[in-house]
Amino acid sequence: MTKKVIIIGSGIAGIAAAIRLAVKGYSVEVFEANDYPGGKLSEIQLGEYRFDAGPSLFTLPEQVDELFRLAGKDPKDYFEYDKLEVNCHYFWEDGTRLKAYSDLNEFAEEVQTKLGEPSKNIRKSLRQSAFIYDRLAPLFMNRSLHRLNTWTSAQAMRSYLKMGKLGIFSTMNEANEKQFENPKLVQLFNRYATYNGSNPYQTPATLNIIPHLEFNIGAYFPKKGMHDITLSLFKLSQDLGVSYHFKQKVEKILVDKSKAVGVQIAGENHYADLVINNMDMVNAYKTILKDQKQPTLLLNQPKSSSALIFYWGIKKNFPELDLHNIFFSSNYKQEVDHIFQKGTIHYDPTVYVNITSTHKQDDAPKGSMNWFTMINVPNNQGQDWDKLIAEARKNIIHKLNNILQTDVESLIEVEEILDPRTIESKTSSAQGALYGNSSNNKFAAFLRHSNYSSSINNLYFCGGSVHPGGGIPLCLLSAKIMSEMAVS
Ligand SMILES: Cc1cc2nc3c(=O)[nH]c(=O)nc-3n(C[C@H](O)[C@H](O)[C@H](O)COP(=O)(O)OP(=O)(O)OC[C@H]3O[C@@H](n4cnc5c(N)ncnc54)[C@H](O)[C@@H]3O)c2cc1C
Repeated sequence: MTKKVIIIGSGIAGIAAAIRLAVKGYSVEVFEANDYPGGKLSEIQLGEYRFDAGPSLFTLPEQVDELFRLAGKDPKDYFEYDKLEVNCHYFWEDGTRLKAYSDLNEFAEEVQTKLGEPSKNIRKSLRQSAFIYDRLAPLFMNRSLHRLNTWTSAQAMRSYLKMGKLGIFSTMNEANEKQFENPKLVQLFNRYATYNGSNPYQTPATLNIIPHLEFNIGAYFPKKGMHDITLSLFKLSQDLGVSYHFKQKVEKILVDKSKAVGVQIAGENHYADLVINNMDMVNAYKTILKDQKQPTLLLNQPKSSSALIFYWGIKKNFPELDLHNIFFSSNYKQEVDHIFQKGTIHYDPTVYVNITSTHKQDDAPKGSMNWFTMINVPNNQGQDWDKLIAEARKNIIHKLNNILQTDVESLIEVEEILDPRTIESKTSSAQGALYGNSSNNKFAAFLRHSNYSSSINNLYFCGGSVHPGGGIPLCLLSAKIMSEMAVS
């Protein structure tokens, strides 16, 4: 008889889990609280402007391709993407501008010319980044940290031998200060901590693994925008027979004799052989698992940072801007302290502007641009967000005006705002954190929930809050690790 699985949530990890289990012959039903798939990986339309609502940087595209191949399909029939030639444009208030070319030789030359940094430092740093990836990705990205055989594997032995070189004993900032002469480059490489919502002055230098993804492997852009990752995988899952139920908020996971047997929605029971939870782990325990034993230590870990985004339709073209643009703060330490220590927003934040209309022209009217303007902010601890947002908006515009020599306010045609409160209400992410728990100490990766429940049989977890990393590829990997466990 065909076994049935229920998945709670159609975030990217929920969809990936649905594909993997459908391929294994399960009958899969997904219950989603929203009326659209994708969770954080969604889009918004404001008049003639389209915006990717959440993630904007796409790395490790083979994690997406793998799902199509697994289903016996050609990825290109569903989903296409291009490698970026310039990963990011960096701007500082003193007039310095830097292009992060994806070609290492070009980037090293740009850094030497613009910042006077010896190119050998860049090369050494990216070699170190590749080394950490080579030693740790097989453990931390591709396997469950909660299984003994992960730690007794040959890959683990290789890593133990090089423990001292994996950045465990210094912070990211300490390693970068040692590596680079120019403080601007330290700032540039410190910013990678924000890719999983962490603090570069606290997080271990192990997280210097992240630049490897962008520089050595590559940054990509889906031809139809980031939201197409969701749409194409959603379509694949439907082609495989997965059924979706939207506006169906799960109220409870049904547990009988320490075994998950289904879910309850609007008082009605739905039964299955396996239950997979893609909802943020912390809020899941607070709501749909509230009657079950709580993993208190894991639930109480500090959360990653959140984001404040202004989606602006801008009625002007700026040729100096590209897909990814960073306008750095003048004092990064102060900015980061405000986010992680003070729980507030510095008056001079680092501003990220993502403009998909530079690569997908129909995302904005001719002669205009769609600016996804984002700053990193603390997660929601009950701050006066309306006040903080109004101040931040003023400060962001002031900064962009100075650097771009323009008047941003007069160019904004349409506007929508996403903040930690709305991130939480739209996706049930605890405190609006983007990546679940933060990675601000060397034990953080081990203090994340596993992909399975240790007290409830047949209950599994996937998604950003149950993987030591964060971001799309790691959510997809969490679904892979989880489904291999669930069907083993
Ligand atoms: C502003 C922003 C910028 C980001 N930038 C990047 C980036 O550049 N690159 C990158 O790789 N990653 C980025 N990320 C992170 C990335 O978006 C996430 O890691 C990923 O999308 C999380 O996917 P998920 O499947 O774990 O969960 P989610 O997308 O959070 O999905 C969970 C789903 O579960 C549903 N749900 C919750 N509770 C219930 C319930 N009770 N019943 C039914 N359904 C429920 C929710 O509605 C939601 O659809 C960003 C995130 C944000 C918000």
